[in-house]
Amino acid sequence: MVTFLSKDQIWNYLSEIPDPEIPAINIIELGVVRDVKVDDAQVEVIITPTYSGCPAMKMIEDNIYLHLKSKNIDNVKVTTILSPAWTTDWITEEAKEKLNKYGIAPPQKEIACPQCASQNVECISQFGSTPCKAQYRCKDCREPFDYFKCH
Ligand SMILES: [Zn+2]
Repeated sequence: MVTFLSKDQIWNYLSEIPDPEIPAINIIELGVVRDVKVDDAQVEVIITPTYSGCPAMKMIEDNIYLHLKSKNIDNVKVTTILSPAWTTDWITEEAKEKLNKYGIAPPQKEIACPQCASQNVECISQFGSTPCKAQYRCKDCREPFDYFKCH
């Protein structure tokens, strides 16, 4: 039985959980974890889904339980709140850079190629490898890439 846990400790543990769809960033950087509450009886993690019906959310919830359990924290409750709705603004600046390095153009006003930073790009498909992403191609370096859609 863990007798003392700080909120910061829980945040640290949660930051070790990668996003199931984009392992380059963690769920804190993605901005889905809204709050953590710790009391004697349990740890409550409050999350907001990125996209309604995003299949990754169930996985994120399961991973939170599993990861905290691996830290000997058993009394965990994950609460999903839908309001205020998640927005791509909640993705941290650091995470946006990681996305770019990973080859995914982060949400931005002017979509730029993650390879060569050219803005001379075209949309190939509104749906990329996941519903959250669209497929683009750079007209300069000819590389296709995923774009994390704004919303
Ligand atoms: Zn390019």
